[in-house]
Amino acid sequence: MSLNLALTCAAVALGTGLWLGLLRRYDRIETESVTDLLQVVLLGGVASMAVAALFNEGFVRALGLETLLTGGVGGVGWGELVAFSLFIGVSEEVSKAVSTIYVTRRWGDLDEPVDAMIYAMSVGLGFAALESVFYATRFGNEVLLMRFLWPVPAHMAYASVWGYGLAKARYVFPERNRARVMGPSVALGTGVHAAANFLLLLQSTLPALWGTAAALLSLGALFVLAYVAHYHLRELVAESPFLDPGECPECRHRNPPQARRCTRCGASLKQTSMFTTCPCGQIRVPVRADECPRCGLDLRGAQGPSPQHGARSSAS
Ligand SMILES: [Zn+2]
Ligand SMILES: [Zn+2]
Repeated sequence: MSLNLALTCAAVALGTGLWLGLLRRYDRIETESVTDLLQVVLLGGVASMAVAALFNEGFVRALGLETLLTGGVGGVGWGELVAFSLFIGVSEEVSKAVSTIYVTRRWGDLDEPVDAMIYAMSVGLGFAALESVFYATRFGNEVLLMRFLWPVPAHMAYASVWGYGLAKARYVFPERNRARVMGPSVALGTGVHAAANFLLLLQSTLPALWGTAAALLSLGALFVLAYVAHYHLRELVAESPFLDPGECPECRHRNPPQARRCTRCGASLKQTSMFTTCPCGQIRVPVRADECPRCGLDLRGAQGPSPQHGARSSAS
């Protein structure tokens, strides 16, 4: 390995480690092991990159748009720019989502809702890290700093959209077809990714002032997306089945089981949508649970009407 490539890999590893460390801080109730996370970053990144690269290459070859993959937009029509942006969005987000599901099944430990987002964003991180190595070998190591401040968090942010969908699919609608429940969130992540691609391509075709405006718009959208990811990560942490009834997800103080606010830090202990406290007050159970594993109470129908309970009782 040449010295330059070794430098590239070291810089990418450092940047990836920093982002992964920041992401792991959200997973504070039942924290994933560093080994599991690194395996998912690496294997998920490689798997999704391999599949997406195959699709992307095939698409640009079929349309004769090879220059677009390296950012050259000269002589390319608007229709082709839109089609290209959309196709890249679909191929990259779908391959990341499929890789996340398969890689975490074997190498991850998806045992609380927030893990779905953590692993999804880890695969996005692995994908972007590999992409950074390719960019650095082509354009030089000086592109790396900008990549770790923009495209890398952007890939994590796109993944956070369907990572949240994966958490819902697993914990709110476990009995439904996973692809169908995740579909809308994958489509949303794809749409955001495609729009960002399109703005980036526009930036290099438009006059300087408009190009800057397109870049700023894209950066602003990334900040919004990052805030939504932050909000959803915190929401899912509070859903952890590893919390005791009344335990505060912020400071871990044990409040009375039905407390609405933490008496130590004041955090809201609002009713959550995936796990709820059994009336016995001893344990948090999935909202779809039939009976409490601790006290044996029959929970069907006890937790308000839901289509699943209705479907189950009419089927039995
Ligand atoms: Zn608290
Ligand atoms: Zn109970």
